[in-house]
Amino acid sequence: MKTKLVMATNNANKLREAREILAPLGIEVLSQREAGADCDPDENGATFAENAKIKAQAVFDAVGLPTIADDSGLCVDALGGAPGVHSARYAPKGQECGKLLGELKDVPESERGAAFRCTICYMDGNGHTEFTGSCEGRIGYEQRGSNGFGYDPVFMVGDKTMAELSADEKNSISHRGAALRALYRFLKERNGD
Ligand code: IMP
Repeated sequence: MKTKLVMATNNANKLREAREILAPLGIEVLSQREAGADCDPDENGATFAENAKIKAQAVFDAVGLPTIADDSGLCVDALGGAPGVHSARYAPKGQECGKLLGELKDVPESERGAAFRCTICYMDGNGHTEFTGSCEGRIGYEQRGSNGFGYDPVFMVGDKTMAELSADEKNSISHRGAALRALYRFLKERNGD
């Protein structure tokens, strides 16, 4: 029987990325709905790590199976690291890029640096472990591309936005991809492979 791992989310994008990266380990990744957990805890932590742990704990307490949770966001240099842990609540869905471009309209190229950051918390009966990943880039001047979600259309890596990359290209450089690959190495080592 396959080892089961619950991901504390129902977000199809996050599940697909985790399933793709963990597939070689023969692990079955369940959404929290598939695992029978109906949780929506308050993400009131001050850091990505705190919020990831809050989400993992809620689902682990509900189902008792090994659980992973991720928390992520965009940190913009010119905004002192904001929106950071508040990225999901910075603007109504679909308006986050427009709002960010407006806030940065007078910011010169040299000060438009930004990074996507992600922490994944793995939790089982023995405790929890954290894995982090980041992706450095800069904020462009207009929205480009239609792939991805959230801030992807304004986040530039080289001369393309994240929204102009394919899912595989994004996975290979993204903050979440990096954290998932660190989790993969941990699980592989722990299973003695
Ligand atoms: P959460 O981790 O689901 O709480 O949400 C983090 C928020 O950060 C999302 O709603 C997006 O606005 C933003 N975000 C996180 N990762 C990405 C990404 O890969 N691309 C674009 N936006 C992201």
